[in-house]
Amino acid sequence: MDFQNQPRIQPIFHPLLSNRKLEMAILRLDEVHPLVPGNKFFKLKYNLQQARNEGKSTVLTFGGAFSNHIHATAAASQMKGFKSIGVIRGEDIDSKNPTLAYARRMGMELLFVDRKTYREKDSLSLIGELRQKFGDFYLIPEGGTNQLAIQGTSEILSPETSTFTHLTTPIGTGGTGMGLAASLLPYQTLLGISVLKREFIRLEFENLAAQYQVRSKGQVQIETQFHFGGYAKWKPELIEFIRWFWKEFQVPLDPIYTGKMGYAIWEKIKTDKFPPYSKILLIHTGGLQGSQGFTHRTGIELPYSFKVK
Ligand SMILES: *Cc1c(COP(=O)(O)O)cnc(C)c1O
Repeated sequence: MDFQNQPRIQPIFHPLLSNRKLEMAILRLDEVHPLVPGNKFFKLKYNLQQARNEGKSTVLTFGGAFSNHIHATAAASQMKGFKSIGVIRGEDIDSKNPTLAYARRMGMELLFVDRKTYREKDSLSLIGELRQKFGDFYLIPEGGTNQLAIQGTSEILSPETSTFTHLTTPIGTGGTGMGLAASLLPYQTLLGISVLKREFIRLEFENLAAQYQVRSKGQVQIETQFHFGGYAKWKPELIEFIRWFWKEFQVPLDPIYTGKMGYAIWEKIKTDKFPPYSKILLIHTGGLQGSQGFTHRTGIELPYSFKVK
């Protein structure tokens, strides 16, 4: 994790943009680290430092069968010399899927639990049982969102991104959105695209901000219309959009997070929701490892190939 590329800001050109006097670029966090790409790099960075400071040798976390967070935690732990344990939702899942196979290759020990047990992931009694089973560990919550993750994701924006008026990110647990909100400049708007179907997502985001005492100097807007039926759900239009985006710009988007963000922003452009002279920065939060899992589970090929090292 010490090695970190400065993420590239890749400009995007299209008549739809120039006709409306809009500018757009993509912040390529997917290129920030070869093994731990995307927002997960920023979410894990200070957590693993903290684990080291506390003298822990094992890291334990929770995730779904195709989780980017599991993938990233396995790789980062291996790189930093920690043993890692992944508690995985579901007992009936294909434990040989590309994400879990990779996590195992990175030395992660996997524990499959039924969905009812998984829902207890924040309870002291389950954590206690896990400590009895595995010994002491540094706990990273599902999706990796905690105070130190927010500290990390508040480093995504930089002087180079200060000329943009609108920044966009997918919203899962909201940890990345929190860090971005905390570092907005007064004239900037963050558009968070919820990838989950959650009725109270705006309220949940506000509660998270209160919990972590995040105050934004800019505007934060959460879009709830672009989840395509819920987490990891999709429709043919989404896949078409990802194919079109690749053909047009050679930028790979994943169907779980960045594809939904891209689709949402493009819809808003088409329907003139951005004022002229807006400068829009799409934050590419990574997640491309999940594309293999998507193809594995749906049989749908995506136009780019992503090979994990
Ligand atoms: C995990 C993830 C997100 C969601 O981040 P949160 O901090 O949970 O909101 C967004 N994009 C990608 C590619 C991810 O892997």
